Amino acid sequence: MRLHAFKTFRPNTLKEALSLKSRYKKNAVLKAGGTSLIPEMRLGLKNPQYVILLDHVREISGIEEKPDGLHVGAAASLQDIKTSATVKEHYGPLAEAIENVSAPSLHYQSTIGGNICQDTRCIYYDQSEFWRSIKGACFKQGGDKCNAVPASKICRSVYQGDLAPVLICMDASVRISSPKKDKLIKIADLFSGNGLSPLKLPPNSILTEIILPRLETRKVAYVKQSERGALDYPVVGVAAFVKLRRGLVEENGFAVTAIGPAPLVVTEPLLNARRLDEGFISYAAEVVAKKAKPIANMSATPAYRKYLVKILVGKVLRRLA
Ligand SMILES: Cc1cc2nc3c(=O)[nH]c(=O)nc-3n(C[C@H](O)[C@H](O)[C@H](O)COP(=O)(O)OP(=O)(O)OC[C@H]3O[C@@H](n4cnc5c(N)ncnc54)[C@H](O)[C@@H]3O)c2cc1C
Ligand code: SF4
Repeated sequence: MRLHAFKTFRPNTLKEALSLKSRYKKNAVLKAGGTSLIPEMRLGLKNPQYVILLDHVREISGIEEKPDGLHVGAAASLQDIKTSATVKEHYGPLAEAIENVSAPSLHYQSTIGGNICQDTRCIYYDQSEFWRSIKGACFKQGGDKCNAVPASKICRSVYQGDLAPVLICMDASVRISSPKKDKLIKIADLFSGNGLSPLKLPPNSILTEIILPRLETRKVAYVKQSERGALDYPVVGVAAFVKLRRGLVEENGFAVTAIGPAPLVVTEPLLNARRLDEGFISYAAEVVAKKAKPIANMSATPAYRKYLVKILVGKVLRRLA
């Protein structure tokens, strides 16, 4: 699993990084911390001609509170974010969710942009070249079939990021920059829903910033189940938010990770104007689990993952009650 030959660039400014991405487009990949990218390159899942290192682009590594909320540079490390006094005091659910990502030693290197933009995964895909050659190339490897669900017309590899669901529930936006323009979109709209190309990021662009509004009356929490206690992706992860007014839920929302190619986003109007009690919780668990449609492409079975959604919705809501 040796790395193939490639050329690296280490730009010092965002302008330079954007110009490189624009010049080489799909032939170039961005490397932030590299904790996801390098293992994928070692497996031969990504074979870029050019690698653009983002670690010297200081403009996109800051964490600053402005009148419209918290601005986090995409290249800010998870360590800097989770230990920021502002984040801990006013945007606590993000710091708590980071504790769920991989292991503390990886937080120094991992970035929030890399976490959000991590590729989707599949038990038939994240394997050595030799292993993959036995099954034959699937959609995600340039083939014309899905090895997990032969009848499927699209790739349904699984997005397993821990931070996107909590950022969705915190109503975050992301800035997508290209040489000629900047675009701010809700983070939920970043995901395409197709595992072949899971992010709606044009090939000449870079995700540069995450903007979080102050939470005000919004309460947010995230829970995850993984196979091991540490250094492990979620088998399922559920983030939830509620806005409470005079003891009643005014607004609600859920974002489930590791269930499909994009976080599953659910809001249920019938849950509004109700108390956040056990009746609320069991109804919400049914509603969210019904919308979860996992397929057999992870080590846990689809039935177990669906069951986990139900359990985790209950768990996360009890934290908010
Ligand atoms: C053993 C192990 C366990 C892990 N466990 C978890 C886990 O529990 N939860 C979890 O969420 N993740 C987990 N990960 C994945 C990964 O470590 C984290 O998601 C990490 O936050 C990725 O950040 P990075 O800066 O290292 O990204 P990189 O590896 O540098 O990049 C990841 C991807 O994002 C792209 N990218 C990076 N920055 C940008 C940008 N600014 N704009 C556009 N594209 C960009 C890269 O091109 C690449 O495709 C794990 C990884 C390993 C190896
Ligand atoms: S879901 Fe199917 S097409 Fe996608 S990576 Fe897995 S086997 Fe390949």
